[in-house]
Amino acid sequence: MNALLNIALAASAFVGMEVFAWAMHRWVMHGSAWTWHESHHRPRTGPFERNDRFVLIFSLIAVALFAIGQVVPGLTAVAIGVTLYGVAYFTMHEVLVHRRLPPPFTPRSGYLAHLVAAHHLHHAVHTREGAVSFGFLYAPPLRKLRAQLRTLNRPPAPQD
Ligand SMILES: [Zn+2]
Ligand SMILES: [Zn+2]
Repeated sequence: MNALLNIALAASAFVGMEVFAWAMHRWVMHGSAWTWHESHHRPRTGPFERNDRFVLIFSLIAVALFAIGQVVPGLTAVAIGVTLYGVAYFTMHEVLVHRRLPPPFTPRSGYLAHLVAAHHLHHAVHTREGAVSFGFLYAPPLRKLRAQLRTLNRPPAPQD
């Protein structure tokens, strides 16, 4: 298979993973799998949290893709895209935002600082409902997220 096609497959998998991760976070983690994800919205009590099980599962899926890629043309390129996404996710989310490893630098402006600030807004809410900004490598403007946060968490109007 030619190199250009492999690069296109890997790039599509990388972008597709952000869409997939957004949907998983929005509808599954803040949905039926909240019992695992809730640990990520509480102070961590040890080196790991229940939510890390998702990372483990997705890593195993990437490993499986590499294995199947031995016999299915193009799947290794997809596996590479998925793995690169995993590395980017880990660096952004676990290192730059949550500092589970010492970050090599602290982004002060630009794209990375925007992502970090947006993810902190995600953590402004500690409940299944009412959260904003579910993506990891893309986030809408902060002003939009703050407005959405206010709308979702507006106290009920007093009854009279
Ligand atoms: Zn969350
Ligand atoms: Zn987080």
